[in-house]
Amino acid sequence: MAKSTRLRLIRCLPGFAAQAPALRRELQKRGAIVLSQRNECLRVVRDWIASDESLRAKMEANEITLTSLGEFVGRLASHADLPHRRSASPLVQEALLAAEEDSLVNRTSLGVMASKPGFQAAALETLQELRHYELDPRDLAHSDPRLADLAEISAILESALEKHKLTTLSLRVQQLLEAEPSVPDEIRRVLWIGEDVLEPLWARLIQWLVEAGCTVSYFCEVHPTNAEFFPEPPFPQADADASFPIETIDATDLASSLPQHAVYGRGAPKVEGCEGIQIVATADEFIEVETALRELRDRLQDGAPPQSLVLYVPTLSEYGPLIHSGAIRLRVPIVMDYQIPLLQNPLARALQDLLGALVAGSIHAVSLVMRSPFTRAKPAETGAWEALLQEGLSEAEIWQRLEARVDANLPEWASELAAWQRTAANEIGTASDWIARFRELVALLPWIHGDAFTEAEKRHGSALDTMIRGAEAEAIATLNRKLSFREWTRRVVARWKTQTAYIRVRDRGGLLVTQSVWDVGTPDLLYALGMTEGRIPRKRIEDPLLPDRARLAIPGAPLPTSYEEAYAMQRDFYRLISASPHVILSYPKTFSEGDEVASGYLADLRIALPACRLREIGFDRRLPDPTPEQEPHEQVASAAWNGVEPPAPEAKALLEQLQEETSRCDIVVLSSPNLQQRVSSIPDPLRVDHLRAAEECAFRFLVLAHFRLRTRRHPSAWSVARAAIYKTDLSLPPEEMKEELRRHCKAEIDAARPYLSQEELRLLQLSANTLLDSFVQTEANARERWKVRPKAKRVSLQDTGLRKVFRNGDQAIHLDATIDVLYEVEGFEVPMLFGFVPVETQDGDAFELRAALYAALAPEAVRVAIFHDLSTGLRRAYQVGRAPTGSGFVSYTRGNLYLLPRDKNGFLNGIRERFVRTLDKIAFGTVSPEPGNHCKSCSFEDFCRKEESLLVKSTKSDESA
Ligand code: SF4
Repeated sequence: MAKSTRLRLIRCLPGFAAQAPALRRELQKRGAIVLSQRNECLRVVRDWIASDESLRAKMEANEITLTSLGEFVGRLASHADLPHRRSASPLVQEALLAAEEDSLVNRTSLGVMASKPGFQAAALETLQELRHYELDPRDLAHSDPRLADLAEISAILESALEKHKLTTLSLRVQQLLEAEPSVPDEIRRVLWIGEDVLEPLWARLIQWLVEAGCTVSYFCEVHPTNAEFFPEPPFPQADADASFPIETIDATDLASSLPQHAVYGRGAPKVEGCEGIQIVATADEFIEVETALRELRDRLQDGAPPQSLVLYVPTLSEYGPLIHSGAIRLRVPIVMDYQIPLLQNPLARALQDLLGALVAGSIHAVSLVMRSPFTRAKPAETGAWEALLQEGLSEAEIWQRLEARVDANLPEWASELAAWQRTAANEIGTASDWIARFRELVALLPWIHGDAFTEAEKRHGSALDTMIRGAEAEAIATLNRKLSFREWTRRVVARWKTQTAYIRVRDRGGLLVTQSVWDVGTPDLLYALGMTEGRIPRKRIEDPLLPDRARLAIPGAPLPTSYEEAYAMQRDFYRLISASPHVILSYPKTFSEGDEVASGYLADLRIALPACRLREIGFDRRLPDPTPEQEPHEQVASAAWNGVEPPAPEAKALLEQLQEETSRCDIVVLSSPNLQQRVSSIPDPLRVDHLRAAEECAFRFLVLAHFRLRTRRHPSAWSVARAAIYKTDLSLPPEEMKEELRRHCKAEIDAARPYLSQEELRLLQLSANTLLDSFVQTEANARERWKVRPKAKRVSLQDTGLRKVFRNGDQAIHLDATIDVLYEVEGFEVPMLFGFVPVETQDGDAFELRAALYAALAPEAVRVAIFHDLSTGLRRAYQVGRAPTGSGFVSYTRGNLYLLPRDKNGFLNGIRERFVRTLDKIAFGTVSPEPGNHCKSCSFEDFCRKEESLLVKSTKSDESA
């Protein structure tokens, strides 16, 4: 008697809509388990069941169960009494391999490649593929040396998994298949869905289930006219064998096939009608995304349910941020998950910087973190911190003072942070101990505290969880090994660099944005973006550890090559266009700064469906014509772009308001009398350095003097050398001074270590030392020739005997400045400033005002200010009037010393006039940006938006020209 058929192949057209009727019939029967390797397939089925009353009732009565393959195999393994093992996540497997770096280097021919980022993930992927194809690299090691390496990596991984009592899903299935086929009573009917190519391991599992008495219904896809388009599932025994009968059920309803099934067809006539399919070519990716979002929003506003619309993109990492920002701006509710590199999250980045700074023990690096918004430092706290740094103390002394909280204005957590750093620097512990210490560190800082759980805070919280998960993977890999703080930080930072963080967008009533063709369900409209070569299909890339040649060398060549991967993407495209009766496929002609080529699959589509409509949207249609239904702000933008009037009265009113505001912006008249008074007042005290800004650009003066904004600069040779000079005793003999300068320079570079690469650090060290050597030489010459004696460094003008008040008519102008080095000459104080010193004096118009003012600060008898250019080693004494009696201020070009004498009358008539004119300009209260050559040395171009090089014509007028 023939055995009853327990394996049923249910053949359907691709797309969930085509499969749903057959699935419904199967689910009507009792006790069905729906199984898939793809979570997105299970999600689609779950939502579909939830929308059907009778199926929902069966699921609530546990007659239908949805389960992932991992969970299902776990149940079978327990039933078969296999030793209990947890499955290691890919993250943990990567960490285990990374921990075996020495074995990998010694036992394989891969050498240092085994320690490169991304190696572990690539090796795990290849090993998993070999297991899915039931290929043991140990048996194949003779066919290619790469397989010998993979055999070693496999042995290393399996022994590491065994040591930690862990396993992987495929290893678990391999063990299960060796056991006698048997399943628990409740597993009687399995519906297996969502496979593209059924790999041999899963085919054997299905056979094992059938032998254990289970009925398995395997859903596979077919093309209506091309039988070879989808691969046949590789069941080991054909249906001709009576011991393993297979029933094939054609559930495909060809009569209701969509016109898109003509694509990739064989011998089928061309289809004329295809109103549901449309191709859209846009000028760039921004227009592409916004056009799609606007069209989807229009449908939502027309009453389409959100679940009937799906937006597909092949690469969410690329399109996700664009869609996210576009959806916020255009008010389109969406549901989307996309990933970004973990360390792109600001909190993760700040925590990584903090760990780097604490490892280096660098108080200066910690202070960069201190300025991050996460510390929520109040101005008084930041001020106290900066004051402590400027006391000229050694780093060790600053740490001690911080821990003792010498100033009550210092943030409360600062002393705990200092204590944390002191203990951590001397501790060793397991990776688990360090995780506990890391948690303590996070808790003592006010990073993400607060009740307001904003979207940004949720993202930071999720990034922190991802960091902890990465650290836990390291803890599993390093087990009980004791690590220093430096070693643990090195390991976790390397792990974090390979991890990604999720950005989850969950708008109420949002439409789905996805990058999986298995996730689209049964939408009424599918809008697909990014249909370009390189995205769909993706660029063909060979497996670096097992390239095509090595794959073809395996007897029978069972493994897919990179070309077969391209076929898999063609199937994805076919699934995509089959998912809905209405499909819009869009591509940008340019992306970022490069030209794009439309996907070859669109050409396949147009060959099969010649009537398929192509819509082009150029730059001139960046914004559509305004309509009264649009939000007023959108109407205004669209109207401005298209050169028409906004249709709705409130949009017209908004436009008028805007025009009035923008016309005022150009004149820049502040309407608030308070503000007007504030910006037209001369700051008291007025910083000498700001005068140049006031003379050149009123806006720059505004941000420097009134907003008190500072720019954070990348560490440079110049800034490192200057910081080392501040800490060095300049009265030391030259050789000792050089030594001390180098020591401080090294400490400064150590502080910059977390922010720079090894190459940058080396370059910084070399160039900073060169600058300092040249400084020592010039300083020694100045001491000998100009008879200068250092008295103080980085001193406030208020703490010197120099002049602090200038009179302008009956107005007293109080001045302020920070003097880099204060010298004493013949009993008088002479200021020295670092900065640009022109070689040709006629180039120094801006220098002249600054130099003359500093010189005028000195007492009448010695009107001299010195300027030192660290980058050239050149030092120039600017002297107004007669040379001071007894001083040696003369030019000594061999010693890099120059005198620039100015006659007193010239100063009084020329520079004073400029000074007064600048004061008048400040008092006038103008705040307009004044672009010019000086923009090159300004860092506020992002605020003023008027930097000279940004003043270009609009794109639209360029195009129409
Ligand atoms: S970039 Fe130019 S215009 Fe803008 S603030 Fe700076 S100096 Fe002024």
